[in-house]
Amino acid sequence: MFEPVLLKSVDIRSAHLLSTYEAGGGYQALAKALRDYTPDEVIELVKQSNLRGRGGAGFPTGMKWSFVPKQSGKPTYLCCNADEGEPGTFKDRIIMERDPHQLIEGLAISAYAIGAETAYVYIRGEYVTAIRRLEQAIAEASAAGYLGAHILNSAFNFTIHIHCGAGAYICGEETAMLESLEGKRAQPRLKPPFPAVAGLYASPTVINNVETLICVPHIVARGADWFRDIGPDKSPGPKLYCLSGQVRKPGLYELPMGIQLRELVEEHAGGPLPGRKIKAVIPGGVSAPVIPERGLDVGMDFDSLAAAGTMLGSAGVIVIDDATCMVKVATRIVEFFHHESCGKCTPCREGLNWAVKVLRRIEAGEGAPGDLEQLEKLCKGIFGNTFCALGDGAAMGLRAALAHFRDEFVAHIEERKCPYH
Ligand code: SF4
Repeated sequence: MFEPVLLKSVDIRSAHLLSTYEAGGGYQALAKALRDYTPDEVIELVKQSNLRGRGGAGFPTGMKWSFVPKQSGKPTYLCCNADEGEPGTFKDRIIMERDPHQLIEGLAISAYAIGAETAYVYIRGEYVTAIRRLEQAIAEASAAGYLGAHILNSAFNFTIHIHCGAGAYICGEETAMLESLEGKRAQPRLKPPFPAVAGLYASPTVINNVETLICVPHIVARGADWFRDIGPDKSPGPKLYCLSGQVRKPGLYELPMGIQLRELVEEHAGGPLPGRKIKAVIPGGVSAPVIPERGLDVGMDFDSLAAAGTMLGSAGVIVIDDATCMVKVATRIVEFFHHESCGKCTPCREGLNWAVKVLRRIEAGEGAPGDLEQLEKLCKGIFGNTFCALGDGAAMGLRAALAHFRDEFVAHIEERKCPYH
């Protein structure tokens, strides 16, 4: 029987307060890490757990930490990516609003492991409650000696700063986030050098997502074996899934990594609305290619979804029922990416602009023969030719919609109207 750990306290009204967090065993993992482990041993523990980054890329966290040079002569920074701009994703917001000390403890242990004394939490400006709660929690943790100088009488010093973004999707891309933190226009950087070597202010920097960081105290407290025993070998651990769209019980669920998508949607989220059928599911935020209903028997983990031609992404699961027009869905998604494109590279900037025009025409019943081939050509020109993953995500999503729901696109063109309206 799976027992939630990450969301264990979020329904308690006072979960954001230090007293409640301490009463539930909070900050004991930090004490254990400082008392029983060297920084390298914490990295080794996280490596053994096989924790993979929950922000979308799924890179092994312990390995990422081990890339930080030990003798760079520069300060090392830890950055928490709390920008959470992927539509359909709200897990990090819930954690920061309801259980912010869990994130602070994760940040402190992670900073200890990589040798950082300063962390920045880059949080989207619209998350007003989360920002306020996190500020309050940082003040409480500092007053109690969990942050600041000589934490818990150790030699470890650590400070957290909050930086509010302005709602730009591209700031979720780690190097664009670093540019923004430095006060520059948020556009992705050329890699290499990678942030672990030259990140914030050209110093070694580790960037982890909120959910990745909150796994760390539980790994320290319960051990790497506990974590690895949950879910598939290659992508273990508890996982937060954001369920939204046309389901009976939308919300945030904590379940093992690798749970079947069908079980997640039909059992945990209650299935489709009365009288409706599920038509498709986007499994990982709108940059993850859509899966038609017949493909729901797939594990919700990095490797299974990649094998199925899509991705886990941010685990923002968006359910689409049979009353929804897929041309409309595809158009709204490509419009979103076009709007959020930073404009740095031509295939993304111009290709998405063009794709939006064609899609809007089809949606309005003014499509022409050859439009679908034109869209496919645009996807080919964008995919693999852009500076960052935004362009790829938009192209992959549009390709999947065209492949799985081509009949709906054709119907719009042939009937010269939307068959759903
Ligand atoms: Fe900017 Fe798009 Fe190019 Fe990424 S792919 S750098 S968002 S223009």
